[in-house]
Amino acid sequence: MKPDRKAAIFPGSFDPFTLGHMDVLRSALKLFDKIYIAVGYNHLKHGFLPPQTRVALIQDAVRPLIESGADIEVLSYTGLTVNLCREKNTGFIIRGLRTTTDFELESVIAQANRKMQPETVTVFIPASHSYSFISSTVVRDVIINGGDAAPFMPTNIRIEDYLNKTI
Ligand code: ADP
Repeated sequence: MKPDRKAAIFPGSFDPFTLGHMDVLRSALKLFDKIYIAVGYNHLKHGFLPPQTRVALIQDAVRPLIESGADIEVLSYTGLTVNLCREKNTGFIIRGLRTTTDFELESVIAQANRKMQPETVTVFIPASHSYSFISSTVVRDVIINGGDAAPFMPTNIRIEDYLNKTI
């Protein structure tokens, strides 16, 4: 089956989704007609937010983009990203790069994915200077220690609305 060239998967833990992820998404929307934001989770690993809460947060965060015409679908998945690519008939995986360490880790994963599924291409999008310091780890630390995470989060959501929320 020939992959649909116009769609791409943006996979990640997104625990939680940050302004940095939003910035990568905005760039990806300039390259592709449809983006699947795919929340990857592992049954054995306990995350900060449950996968369905992460999905709900992202759906709320990207609503203004969808309302202005962007084709974005948010989903959760387990297992290999290349299997999700096959399922969604997409040949592109989007990953953001902040540092050379990101590049080293990501290039190994991209090569492994390519070996498993040669028609899949990983597209790296560099972090913009204003957001390159933002990570989900920093956001989690700020929240756990009672700080204000708002400067790191998409502007239309409040992280407090998703903490201890059962979905
Ligand atoms: P993972 O656990 O799969 O790395 P993350 O949610 O931490 O998931 O990140 C998802 C993707 O977003 C990764 O490619 C990561 O490098 C990228 N990313 C995270 N934060 C930023 C940021 N501030 N700027 C650009 N890319 C970022």
